[in-house]
Amino acid sequence: MKIEIDRIPDGGMDIEVDEPVEEYDIEPVFSRFVSPVHISVHADFISGQLLVRGSISIETAADCSRCLKEIREPVVIDDYLFDGPASEGETIDLTGNIREYIIIALPMKRLCTTECKGLCPHCGKDLNVSACDCSSKWVDPRFGGLDKLKFE
Ligand SMILES: [Zn+2]
Ligand SMILES: [Zn+2]
Repeated sequence: MKIEIDRIPDGGMDIEVDEPVEEYDIEPVFSRFVSPVHISVHADFISGQLLVRGSISIETAADCSRCLKEIREPVVIDDYLFDGPASEGETIDLTGNIREYIIIALPMKRLCTTECKGLCPHCGKDLNVSACDCSSKWVDPRFGGLDKLKFE
């Protein structure tokens, strides 16, 4: 987001804008972005200082690492603040600054719930929905031989 200092009136101005996430060049490790970057701030230019404060939000999605269900999670930064020197006629680019805020706030969540039971490794059924009967039928091949052992 770029702010032209000359466009800020006395008393400041509210800026509400959605910007494409591509402009922010962020590669999340565990999630992906599914909305633009929503910016809602108040900008003020007072005695050579640009002061911008407000909130930034973006919607992210990830796949549960156990059951593959999509996890939607918004990143919300309520206390966005930029305070830096500026002069009349200047255009201040806040993209890099906003980028830092988003990176810090990225979710690290990798499970839909901490109790996620995941998918059955044999039939692929989502065990959160209902149990399958593989566990009763399935015998770990490492111990399969024990069935045949006779203890005398
Ligand atoms: Zn899950
Ligand atoms: Zn199963």
